Amino acid sequence: MASSTAGQVIRCRAAVAWEAGKPLVIEEVEVAPPQAMEVRVKILYTSLCHTDVYFWEAKGQTPLFPRIFGHEAGGVVESVGEGVSDLKPGDHVLPVFTGECKDCAHCKSEESNMCDLLRINVDRGVMIGDGQSRFSINGKPIYHFVGTSTFSEYTVIHVGCLAKINPLAPLDKVCVLSCGISTGLGATLNVAKPKKGSSVAVFGLGAVGLAAAEGARIAGASRIIGVDLNPKRFEEAKKFGVTEFVNPKDHDKPVQEVIAEMTDGGVDRSVECTGNINAMISAFECVHDGWGVAVLVGVPHKDAEFKTHPMNVLNERTLKGTFFGNYKPRTDLPNVVEKYMNKELEVEKFITHQLPFSEINKAFEYMLNGDGLRCIINMEA
Ligand code: NAD
Ligand code: ZN
Repeated sequence: MASSTAGQVIRCRAAVAWEAGKPLVIEEVEVAPPQAMEVRVKILYTSLCHTDVYFWEAKGQTPLFPRIFGHEAGGVVESVGEGVSDLKPGDHVLPVFTGECKDCAHCKSEESNMCDLLRINVDRGVMIGDGQSRFSINGKPIYHFVGTSTFSEYTVIHVGCLAKINPLAPLDKVCVLSCGISTGLGATLNVAKPKKGSSVAVFGLGAVGLAAAEGARIAGASRIIGVDLNPKRFEEAKKFGVTEFVNPKDHDKPVQEVIAEMTDGGVDRSVECTGNINAMISAFECVHDGWGVAVLVGVPHKDAEFKTHPMNVLNERTLKGTFFGNYKPRTDLPNVVEKYMNKELEVEKFITHQLPFSEINKAFEYMLNGDGLRCIINMEA
């Protein structure tokens, strides 16, 4: 059934970032109809991930304003553009910041989720098809963010960046699977792949890191060492199977040395979920020689450089990195949602706050203060 708004410009509320680091302003925006291979989605719930905050602060990232942020969300298809055959109005979807065209060498490879056409691009603020924005205010374009821009009641997304999910899945819960939770979980299960009984260090105990810890627990790790500078995180982390804690501030030697001492030479696996370059280096250097594997997940400062002595690599440590936990958004994300539906995966414990859309700026404060994990923003409130 075609919706009555199909083919027309929709006027709706969006939270516009006019300037770096300044509170978002709820504005009435015009959202153009979807063009070829695009889908217009009514966003029902969105949450905030640290990646939104980095690009909004634009301290270590390229500034691009005015812009509509947001990439962790759930919604319903309003209308589809030409050539879209696998989604129709009414379908429930999760937008993903990185896509899957299903046609390129990466999409055809079992090993990669780095789609040639739709892989994450943080500096592009327009649609791939025609290089234009679909958002405007009085005719003046507003930029997109990572192809999703979910801080808007309606947004236009390439079909390759939308996972069609079980319509029975509650969008106010599973929206957190569209970025952070799947990213952390997949970083451990698909990339670090710890063996049963092994030790895993997780750097950064926000939602992404705790999802990585959850992955370690599911994989049967016997020791899960959580590392964070914020002591508030440690209480929460116990619910996620973290067995030991290290606050680098409590030690006068590098945290990798502390961990090596705790584990007789190093952990079997580590997963870095901070975005801090020093934590990335520590996460690599704290894995055991001979077999240790470190996985980087945090989004670094644009000028960051990773420095370590080559001997650390020669000694048979492996460094890896991943976007979206190596999940292919369209192929794999619906199955992650099914894991939640089958009660194999809990997402409620990641949700610590809820806000109406009109109070979205409070969610930024929570994240900047390190309060809680995920804040669900209800677009209709
Ligand atoms: P968050 O802010 O909720 O959590 C980050 C945690 O790291 C905080 O608890 C903070 O105290 C801690 N931390 C910061 N610096 C540290 C250091 N030097 N040592 C130890 N702990 C430190 O953020 P989040 O939403 O969980 O995201 C975590 C990271 O993952 C961010 O960098 C985000 O951009 C990135 N991310 C990457 C992907 C991907 O696909 N690769 C996807 C989503 C998020
Ligand atoms: Zn994210």
